[in-house]
Amino acid sequence: MPSTKFGPTTDMASPTLLANKTLTTGHGSITPSEHDSSRKMKAAAWNGKKTIEMEDRDIPVVTDGTDVIVQVTSTCICGSDLHLYLNAMPGMQKHDVMGHEFMGVVHDVGPEVKNLQKGDRVVAAFDIGCGNCVYCKDQQFSLCDTTNPSGLQEKLYGHRTAGLHGYSHLTGGYEGGQAEYARVPFADLNTLKVPNDMPDRKVILLSDVLSTAWHATELGDVHEGDIVAIWGAGPVGILAAQCSFARGAKQVIMIDNVPFRLQFVKDKVPGVQTINFSEKSVKEGLNELCEHGPHVAIEAVGFHYCKSWTHKIQMALMLETDPSEMLNEILTCVRKGGRVSIVGVYAGFTNGFNIGALMEKGLTVKAGQTPCQKYWHHLLKLIQEGKLQPEVVITHEMDLDEAPKGYQIFNDKTDGCVKVVMHPRGAPVVA
Ligand code: NAD
Ligand code: ZN
Repeated sequence: MPSTKFGPTTDMASPTLLANKTLTTGHGSITPSEHDSSRKMKAAAWNGKKTIEMEDRDIPVVTDGTDVIVQVTSTCICGSDLHLYLNAMPGMQKHDVMGHEFMGVVHDVGPEVKNLQKGDRVVAAFDIGCGNCVYCKDQQFSLCDTTNPSGLQEKLYGHRTAGLHGYSHLTGGYEGGQAEYARVPFADLNTLKVPNDMPDRKVILLSDVLSTAWHATELGDVHEGDIVAIWGAGPVGILAAQCSFARGAKQVIMIDNVPFRLQFVKDKVPGVQTINFSEKSVKEGLNELCEHGPHVAIEAVGFHYCKSWTHKIQMALMLETDPSEMLNEILTCVRKGGRVSIVGVYAGFTNGFNIGALMEKGLTVKAGQTPCQKYWHHLLKLIQEGKLQPEVVITHEMDLDEAPKGYQIFNDKTDGCVKVVMHPRGAPVVA
């Protein structure tokens, strides 16, 4: 049984390393961000459970030679932000700037940046790679060895994965992109230049959820003729449905219990079938729709959603940090020999995991945070060719100052909210 207690008070000495000193490995170094205290910006800050507040902050400046500073034009709220919003993820501290899905215009360029100039429009990857370590050389940028100093993560997982923008001190304590300006380290690798005539709403999701949806189909090896079942009709799940069809899947089935989201996916991704798990068991629904079960099952939900009291109680008592029920449902529904792709975020330990189904049914399970940089050139091309339309999931565009409201409607699933994009006031958004 894990003794680890998740929450902002856990083991803060190691995770805050980045705030104190330069992280140097054999592959490069990252210095804690410096700021210009004479110039202020607005940023959405985490100040506790369900508490996002706009704060005035000093503007970040080029700190390492490979940095750029981006003037943010569009920045989203991601399902992963909800884990932080609900204080389910360890390592948050008051006044942390939120946001890992963002794009904008290059405002300042470090002397070692080779391919970017002031004024370029760029999308930033939510994962921060160094480009030099053994993982980055293998395009596993979200597993970068250089950019995350968290001792807590090393203790929990045996290794440190990549630093992520605005995603707790477990992943480096970087300030996020829900702000007027953001620093992007190793900028040649971690930004994608986008054409001046492509609207923000068509390219912003390359920063995370479109790349993640594609990653889900890569992990599940979705190909011609496959039947794909997707748990979670949020932005990631909906775009995974779109990507599955783009890769030749013959049938895509989405599972959720929020009626407007199930209707939304049917409207936006023609051909999708749906199961409302509050109306019938998922197993029964899948049996009706496909004889042997899906070839591929994609988990696009994540650990903070929990439907059974058994797991709610175990989590409340700190007997586990994550529920196993969705994964167990997936393991029992996917066909024998099937492929399971987990992109929904899990953070720690779970009880009652059906290891037997995994082994005896001969299943392949793959998981992980997305290496956006591996996919985004290809995905940009698919958008330009009209083969992917990521913007269909965007239901709300608002001023960054309205971030607290954006979080509330996205978390509560009110006002028909599927995906929120925010724009700092006066930013040069391409409409
Ligand atoms: P979201 O919260 O909007 O979507 C989750 C959906 O799952 C919701 O519609 C919810 O109603 C549904 N759901 C809840 N319980 C369910 C259940 N038992 N069965 C089926 N559906 C259920 O979030 P999103 O932006 O779509 O993100 C989805 C997940 O992907 C999150 O966990 C997020 O952290 C993760 N994510 C991972 C990566 C990565 O790199 N791996 C990147 C982005 C997001
Ligand atoms: Zn995300």
